[in-house]
Amino acid sequence: MAKKTKVIIVGAGPVGLVTALRLVRAGFTVTVLEQAPELHAEPRASTFHCSTLDLLDTMGLADQLIARGRTAPHWQYRMFETGEAAVFDMSVLAGETRFPFRLQAEQFKLVELTAEQLALEAPGMIRFGAKVTGVSQTADTVSVAVDQNGTSDVLTADWLLGCDGASSVVRIGLGLGFDGETYPVPNVTLGINFDFTGHIRGLLNVNYFWSANGGSFSMFHTRDMWRMGYSPPKGMSDEDALKPENVQLQLNTVLPRSAPYDVAVARLYRIHKRVASDFRVGRILLAGDAAHLNSPSGGFGMNGGVHDAFNLTEKLIAVERGADAAVLDRYVRQRRAAAVADIQATSDANYKRHREPDPDKRRVELQRLQAITQDRALMKDFLMESALIASYRRAEAVP
Ligand SMILES: Cc1cc2nc3c(=O)[nH]c(=O)nc-3n(C[C@H](O)[C@H](O)[C@H](O)COP(=O)(O)OP(=O)(O)OC[C@H]3O[C@@H](n4cnc5c(N)ncnc54)[C@H](O)[C@@H]3O)c2cc1C
Repeated sequence: MAKKTKVIIVGAGPVGLVTALRLVRAGFTVTVLEQAPELHAEPRASTFHCSTLDLLDTMGLADQLIARGRTAPHWQYRMFETGEAAVFDMSVLAGETRFPFRLQAEQFKLVELTAEQLALEAPGMIRFGAKVTGVSQTADTVSVAVDQNGTSDVLTADWLLGCDGASSVVRIGLGLGFDGETYPVPNVTLGINFDFTGHIRGLLNVNYFWSANGGSFSMFHTRDMWRMGYSPPKGMSDEDALKPENVQLQLNTVLPRSAPYDVAVARLYRIHKRVASDFRVGRILLAGDAAHLNSPSGGFGMNGGVHDAFNLTEKLIAVERGADAAVLDRYVRQRRAAAVADIQATSDANYKRHREPDPDKRRVELQRLQAITQDRALMKDFLMESALIASYRRAEAVP
């Protein structure tokens, strides 16, 4: 019997686990090394775009994920006080996707779903509490140094995939650059156990609000809670931004209430815009946040990472079936192009639009967006970009 190709994946985040499940199903022997003692339950991403749902559908996962989230067939930019809005109708994408809506579901729901499938199809292949500390390779094999339960070990495989997030040990071990910038203002993300539906005029399941005081915030409705994102007031320290009294103050500017809000999650994130200088060195490849970071505005990081996972596994499967390993360089060309030209550029534009403080510039931008929403052809073009359908297709066409 032919020897099975062995792949080590570092990181049991959404990108690592989608990659693992695809490779297990293609007959690879896969080991996932995860430093945490269990799957992360941090909400982080909550937006799944239709391009990603179409891909997950090919694995039989989309409908199950949708059942764990909440769909948003419309979403909007809105002046909070006056109610002037540009409302995007996702139904214009009906001919392009099986899923013409945004899905609001925390990223751990995809992590849980893929882990459940892996437990059925390849039990025990995720090793928790296994921290990778270094990587090396020869022409034929990769080696990974792992610390687990206080003991050090070295594992070998045919391929190593670094899906180990922003501070990727794999990327650092390869000596790759990670040029870019860190945005000056952080972002606070809240998960609130209170149903705002019916309390705020015109509220949809996905909202980007501009307030009259020059501030801005987003509100997304997942199945279980409302998520709110905002930048803390200028000059406020990170520590103060997360103080319960300041969090309650922010919530009360949106909807004043005598009882305190039940805030289940309050996190502060620095926002980066960076791309690794390469996504491949020999037998070691990067995907997801390990390879690229962008502002969460618009919900592209995880979606782009899942797109990487599909592209990369398709190429690895081709190599397994006899293609030249150079096809992996096409993965790099395609997904690096998507990261730089689409994901970074659009999320940067979104970041700046959401935080635009100038009322005159906001008005011009709102009018531009309203004009787009009033023309279905223009709205479709806009949504093809914001749902990453156009980006995915452009990347696939890169030779
Ligand atoms: C507030 C916020 C909101 C966001 N919203 C969205 C959104 O709506 N839509 C969207 O698409 N994206 C969004 N993102 C981005 C999204 O969260 C990330 O892009 C996504 O988590 C990337 O997945 P990943 O699997 O590449 O990395 P991660 O999710 O970071 O997973 C990496 C895994 O590797 C493990 N690991 C790290 N180092 C090691 C090591 N040395 N050894 C072993 N294991 C290791 C970690 O423990 C972790 O489990 C958001 C981000 C933030 C901060």
